[in-house]
Amino acid sequence: MYCPKCGKQSPDEATVCKECGLKFGPVSAEPVFDPTINAYRQPLYTPATVPGKGVGIASMIIGILSVVAFLTAYIAAAFAVIGLALGIYSKSKSNKLNLPNGTATAGIACSAVCLGIELTILLIAVIAGAFYF
Ligand SMILES: [Zn+2]
Repeated sequence: MYCPKCGKQSPDEATVCKECGLKFGPVSAEPVFDPTINAYRQPLYTPATVPGKGVGIASMIIGILSVVAFLTAYIAAAFAVIGLALGIYSKSKSNKLNLPNGTATAGIACSAVCLGIELTILLIAVIAGAFYF
């Protein structure tokens, strides 16, 4: 067979190209579509397994999860801002009439605490991000 990398001929039973050292994987039984000849052909080789591929997949999954967690923190912070704004709006309405508005006070307090927590998480994430990248 011919080496797909350097084009030099190697014995059909060879597992490594003697010219460039390319590893020949096990021959696949399935024909593959070759766009250069616009037809299916029996593959001469299958690419060797990429080392560290499993770790790469794990890294990708953790990366996606971190983005999701980050977005969740942003969403939670956005809700806290909305809760805070609505609470202040409600409070200002009732204050004009000197009416007690415990619900609005609770809303402001909850939103403020939530916002504080979320901003702390985001701040840590930003600092960690700046540290790592
Ligand atoms: Zn070669």
